[in-house]
Amino acid sequence: MADLVRSDAQPSPIATTIDLLGDRLTVAILRDAFVDRIHRFGEWIDRTGAPPAVLSARLVALTESGLMERRPQLGGYDRHDYVLTGLGLATWEFLVSVWTWQREWSVDGLLQPEMVHVDCGRRGPPEMVCGHCRSKVRTQDARLEVNPDLLVTATGGSRRRSTRSSPALSRADLQFTEVMEAIGDRWSAMVTGLSLSGVRRFGEFQSVLRISPTTLTERLTRLCEAKILTRIEGGREYALTPRGRALFPIFAFLLAWTQTAHPDVPPELLGPRLRHHDCGAWLEPTLSCRGCDTVLDRTSIAFEY
Ligand SMILES: [Zn+2]
Ligand SMILES: [Zn+2]
Repeated sequence: MADLVRSDAQPSPIATTIDLLGDRLTVAILRDAFVDRIHRFGEWIDRTGAPPAVLSARLVALTESGLMERRPQLGGYDRHDYVLTGLGLATWEFLVSVWTWQREWSVDGLLQPEMVHVDCGRRGPPEMVCGHCRSKVRTQDARLEVNPDLLVTATGGSRRRSTRSSPALSRADLQFTEVMEAIGDRWSAMVTGLSLSGVRRFGEFQSVLRISPTTLTERLTRLCEAKILTRIEGGREYALTPRGRALFPIFAFLLAWTQTAHPDVPPELLGPRLRHHDCGAWLEPTLSCRGCDTVLDRTSIAFEY
């Protein structure tokens, strides 16, 4: 049985997000732009070690997707700076979630920046709360609701960008590989999302995703190798490991940013959505400071290495 592939279909907004942000070099570019205000091609080359053609392609993608803006350099002939737009800056909660996960669960994670709440001075990971009811949201507190009719465009025609064949990158950026096993392609992201909602059985993944057994087996195996899932019940079920469960904010903010990036698309057409059990509302994930319990915004935080 072949995967459902309809190359003529427009990818759903969430699929577009996964294609764009489920890429370790792109996340490294955004981190350098965000934390160190890097805006020149040569500086990214020095930091990431990416081949120029590859870096160039990622910057074009970021520009075309509206996350960055090309500005002529002052006195720089035909050279350009790449500056984050409002939409690019709006990835901050996703980025903070990725760095927080890396710092906690990855061997070299301390190479990633740590968040500081400027107002109270607390340094350390924030907490994810519900934007409606302000209560803390853990993995088991929300459920992914999937509209099967949207799944063809959520996953069909998927570009499989193998993390194994990517160009050599610096040590700090190689660790993004572990996160990218979970969100680096559309099928893996959907399997991870359903796992976060409590789906465990092979047949259940298969019936919700309408995925071929071969593709599903391959993704489940990779997620087990990455220690995001583990086989239980004599191998008949797949459960999230603690490091897998900790991916939840990353996933929630990927969905939330997708809504920000597509303000004209009705939310029900964006792709899968998370509902918060406690208050019944669609989850609007929000970051809160663990020190002073204040909801964080981008201008009230800083980053330190
Ligand atoms: Zn709530
Ligand atoms: Zn604080």
